Amino acid sequence: MSNNIPVLPGFIQNHDSGQQTLRLWCRWCCTWHEHGYTGTPVGQTTDRVAHCGAPDSTYQGTGYDILVSGTPFSAVANTMRKATPAQQRAIREGRITPTVQQLRDQEPPVG
Ligand SMILES: [Zn+2]
Repeated sequence: MSNNIPVLPGFIQNHDSGQQTLRLWCRWCCTWHEHGYTGTPVGQTTDRVAHCGAPDSTYQGTGYDILVSGTPFSAVANTMRKATPAQQRAIREGRITPTVQQLRDQEPPVG
């Protein structure tokens, strides 16, 4: 683990298909990133490249280490206010409105 790589909690999402993915809150996109889950045990980290829609995202350059949480995604999904599709478009275009900034300033979920 290198010093400059952020460690973020990731939450396992169980899909109806039986598939599992790892979801993490992105404070830049103000949405939940979704990554493939390959069975990393709870409490351990797995590194990923960030596919971030926000041009000013620092995750883009570094990627991140995802600390797998024992809390299921379903328990945290509704605790964060996500950007609307229109806001997500604005973020992708680099327009950070005061409302978007408020979304970015939300306290991140704890693993
Ligand atoms: Zn992002």
